[in-house]
Amino acid sequence: ENRIDEVECLVPDMAGIARGKILPAKKFLEGMRQRGLRIPEDVFVQTVNGDYPEDPTPVVSAAARDVYLTPDAETIRIVPWYSEPTAQVICDAFQFSHEPVEIAPRRILKKVLELYAEQGWTPTVAPELEFFLVDVNTDPDYPLEPPIGRSGRRETSRQAYGLDAVNEFDPIFEEVYDFCEAMNIDIDTLTHEGGAAQMEMNFNHGDALLLADQAFLFKRAVREAGLRHKVYATFMAKPMQGEPGSSMHIHQSVLDAKTGRNLFATKGGKDTALFRNHIAGLQRYLPAVMPLLAPNVNSYRRLVPDYDAPINTHWGYDNRTVGLRVPNSGPENRRVENRLAGADANPYLAIATSLACGYLGMMEKLKPRQPVDGSAYRLARTLPRTLYDALERFNGAKALKPVLGALFIQAVTLVKYAELDAYQQVISSWEREHLLLNV
Ligand code: GLU
Ligand code: MG
Ligand code: MG
Repeated sequence: ENRIDEVECLVPDMAGIARGKILPAKKFLEGMRQRGLRIPEDVFVQTVNGDYPEDPTPVVSAAARDVYLTPDAETIRIVPWYSEPTAQVICDAFQFSHEPVEIAPRRILKKVLELYAEQGWTPTVAPELEFFLVDVNTDPDYPLEPPIGRSGRRETSRQAYGLDAVNEFDPIFEEVYDFCEAMNIDIDTLTHEGGAAQMEMNFNHGDALLLADQAFLFKRAVREAGLRHKVYATFMAKPMQGEPGSSMHIHQSVLDAKTGRNLFATKGGKDTALFRNHIAGLQRYLPAVMPLLAPNVNSYRRLVPDYDAPINTHWGYDNRTVGLRVPNSGPENRRVENRLAGADANPYLAIATSLACGYLGMMEKLKPRQPVDGSAYRLARTLPRTLYDALERFNGAKALKPVLGALFIQAVTLVKYAELDAYQQVISSWEREHLLLNV
């Protein structure tokens, strides 16, 4: 129908970046039949700087053997930014023994969804993604600047919800909207956020796997649209000093799989016990799985007081200072907004983790703490403050092991410590400035 010449076969890696292969449409159709689409298993344990952990053999084979990709036919879409008709399809990875690759992020989300299905529950999610537009700049020693325009720095003018400031980037967003339409990405509202040229896109709520796929593809589409207009679109959690960070808030509810009724509110609109159990699960377990919500060294610079980012896991009604906000809502859309994840999180892993913690709370019938009214920034800071701190807690997260899988937890640990080791080798300008002559 679309005279497709080529097909991109994508598989999200641990960082949420698309890996895979591009092949002629004809080859693609043959490959599907013969398990011919292969990539080395170790793409799933590559660090953000392209290295591998020193010894990845506990989680992948020593020989970096191939796994094969099975396209998920539901995810076939056009790639709107190529001049030649090209399709893209998201794939799942399998061992040649037909077992799924247990450390593949899309697999992790599917596993969590299976647990919900066993209980007759269907989770529904709506992510929100914040990002900055910045001038193209590849010199890491040079500060990032917003593209010249009305969205100034935080100190001079804050543009949250400023319409003229968004309109200035209209050519970019025209493209983003066109891309999303061509790719069936169901976006909702676009707003200017509080930072300099910081934007936010909200998605309509729906099926968790579908929304994870959409967020994964959306990030790619926005980066592409930016490049076409000579700006970078970045999902780094805290790209600019003194500016807010970028989050990936996740709104989540649980429906009855049979009737589709929202199980978080009674017909009369009261919160249900299940809702409170869910919130309590998030409160208890999220701090231990922060490497999946805030996966980078940089992510922890975002989780500081007074920037609308959380520093603890308190919950509250219509309160943006807590980690778990319950927005004003009727019984059909009663939900909790998990505000912990950064925009740099892998959407599959962040959604899987967030749902997994809520699941444990419901299974264990946990009780939440009292909701917080007023600023949670005056209360204790309980989220990990560094990636190192987060990883230490992650390793002790026993309850999450059976849910996410011991092999996956081991893979994350290996990759993240390798990234930390690489980071530790860099002597920053701050250290030179403050320590060179003063110690
Ligand atoms: N940018 C804030 C953060 O990093 C969130 C702002 C908001 O949407 O409330 O978490
Ligand atoms: Mg926001
Ligand atoms: Mg939000």
